[in-house]
Formats: sequence, C-alpha cells, structure tokens
Amino acid sequence: MKDKMPVHRHHEATGVAGIYVHVPFCIRKCPYCDFYSITDRAITPVYVEAVRHEMTMTALPAFLFDTIYFGGGTPSLLNVSSIEAIIGTAHQQFHIIPQSEITLEVNPGTVSKRQFEAYQSIGINRISIGVQSFIDNHLKFLGRVHSSSDARLAVAQAREAGFDNMGIDLIYGIPGQTQSSWLSDLKQAVVFEPEHLSCYMLTYESGTPMNADRQSGVFKPLSDEKVKDLFETTLEFLNGKGYVQYEVSNFEKVNPDTQGSAPNERYRSKHNQKYWFCDPYFGFGPSAHSYMEPVRYWNVGNVYEYIDLIKAGKRPVREKENLTTEQLMIEAVYLGLRTTDGINIKRFDRKFHACFHHLFGKALSDLHDKGLLTASQDRCGLTQKGMLFLDAVTNMLVDCLN
Ligand code: SF4
Repeated sequence: MKDKMPVHRHHEATGVAGIYVHVPFCIRKCPYCDFYSITDRAITPVYVEAVRHEMTMTALPAFLFDTIYFGGGTPSLLNVSSIEAIIGTAHQQFHIIPQSEITLEVNPGTVSKRQFEAYQSIGINRISIGVQSFIDNHLKFLGRVHSSSDARLAVAQAREAGFDNMGIDLIYGIPGQTQSSWLSDLKQAVVFEPEHLSCYMLTYESGTPMNADRQSGVFKPLSDEKVKDLFETTLEFLNGKGYVQYEVSNFEKVNPDTQGSAPNERYRSKHNQKYWFCDPYFGFGPSAHSYMEPVRYWNVGNVYEYIDLIKAGKRPVREKENLTTEQLMIEAVYLGLRTTDGINIKRFDRKFHACFHHLFGKALSDLHDKGLLTASQDRCGLTQKGMLFLDAVTNMLVDCLN
C-alpha cells in the first residue's frame, strides 16, 4: 500500500526525494548560458511524450517525493496541458506526497495572466521568474528575449493570478553595472515582495559565445573587486529588507514575526535544498541528473538522441558513477559550505565514521585565520568573505584528504 511506504532515509537531511524535469527549449539562446536547450520547438509534443514515457520506465517504489521542479531551458514554452500531463504521469508513477512543492521556471515575455492562472489550476504552487535585470541595457547585453517592462508585467501577473510563493532571479556582475544600477535592480525586485530571491553572479562558462567575446576583448568584464562590492551590497540591502541568505546565491523572505528569533524556512526552495543536502533527486528529460547516494547518473544531452532512445524502449542514461567515500566527503563539504547552515559536523562524522576536525584541522585553522571560515564543534561555515572564495576554500579542505 502506497501510504505505508517507508521513507527512504539516506542521512538526516530530509531523505525525501525530488523530481526534476528538464525542458530543453528556448526562444533563442542567451550568449552566457551553458544549459542544454535548443530553439527548434517543433518536436515539443514528442519530447513531452518521451518525458512521460521515461517516467513510466523508472521504478522508484522506495521513495517518497515532496518536490517537482520544471527547469530549463524555458518551461513556460510548454503548453499548460503538457505540463499537466507530465505532472499527472509523475503522480501515477511515483509516491508524491500532498502539498508537495511544484515549481515552474518562467521567462518574462513567454507568459500571460491567463497562463499563470492555468498554472495555478494544475497544481503549480511555486513560480520562479527569470527576470535577470530590470534594466534594458543589461537585458540586451545578456541577450534576453524580454524587456524590463515584460519582466515587471510577468511578476505582477503572477501575483494577480494568486501565486503566494514567487521567486525572482537576478544576475549581478554584468559589465557596465554600477553599485547604483545594481541597487536599483534590487529595489525594483523587493517592491514586488517576492518570497524568494536568487542573485547569481554572472559567470563566463567555457564554450559560450559570451566567454569567447570576453576572451577576444569585445567587452571588459567587471573587476573582481567590483563584483565583490556588488555581492556585499546584495547582502546588506536584502538583509535590511527582511530577506535572509540561506545559500551563496539564494535568499528567502522572512516572516517579520519570527525574524531574529527563529529561522524561518518557509520560503526556501525545498527542491534546490535537496542538491545542497545530498538528498536523493531524479531528473527526467535530456541532460537531467539524478542522485541517490552513492550513485549519480545523467541523461544524454541531445534531445533527439534522448527521444530515439526512449522510442526504442531504452533508458536514456548517458553515464552512471558510483561515488567513493572521498568523493562523497568532497560533495558534503562543497555543498554544505554553499549554505549558511554550513556543514553539520556531527552528521558528517556519523555518516563517514570519521572526525571532521581531525581530517581538516590544519586547513580549518588557516582558513579561520584568513577570515574565510568559522568552525565550532557542531558546525563549519563560510564567512561573508569566504563565500566569495567558495571554490578556493573547498580546494584547501579537499587537499587535506590527499
Ligand atoms: S532563457 Fe535561460 S535556459 Fe534559455 S538560453 Fe537563456 S538563460 Fe539559457
């Protein structure tokens, strides 16, 4: 019986799993983006059937699920009925508990009020809007298909349609950005009182057109110093507006009644927390990743190949790896440090039958002296300055394992 099914507990985060659906279509490619997506949307209906078929080929009876996340690409390019069909198949196939968090990423310029209302009616209860900036020049640089007024309209329409769990994504570190232009983006965002804000630093991923332009001197990136100042501005401004950082790039709105007393975790992205807590998640669609400790696997990246494999009745998995204990430790360190909760040392010690302080002791005191990290008996986390050097700090800790 489904409701008697045990929760599959790998460790003490939540143990409850998440479902990710990768929607690989965009109106056009943004030059900075390295997510897999294509602009040929003719095969969308075939893709939708393939994703549903992939779900029915995947048996996960030991898991309970409490999140479904439609990411991309541009999930808002799918018909509402297609999204509904995918959610329906997920419910038939997996044990998804009531009141699960169901998130859809949307792109301004691809949505309408009616569409948001329809999203509500099919059970989507969290909306994540890829605004990136409210400044047209920045949007142009980023190659976004929408204008700042499209962005404002989309946010307002989501609210009007009744979404009470809404996230806005912004990007900082854009060439030409100043403290005041970034502040104006943040100010504009908080006017809408979103429950969640993601502020991502612009990164230049290899293989992207924007990275090629940077390398050939078409534009000059912001200096590290300026980017660092923008990050600090973000923390300062958002804290003053009732937003609490819970991960390097993510902020939740706190309930004013509980602010300062108890942590308010109501508006954290439950789904994304699964990645940081090393909880199990299962991805469907091309390039989607899955994780079920200690196994990680990912699907073929190409949507046509993905569809062909599914049509042939094969699982579309490209590669599968078994993580070693050392790799699991590195993941736990890297992902734990991304969060403001930090690494739970007792949990780490229990999970790995090891002593965190003994393993990393030397690096911990160096990093502490540099003002990058704090470590108590129970918890190890980055300082604000440390968050700017996440990779370097992780590398220093990882060196201790060699
Ligand atoms: S819309 Fe999003 S997924 Fe599509 S190309 Fe732009 S950044 Fe990438």
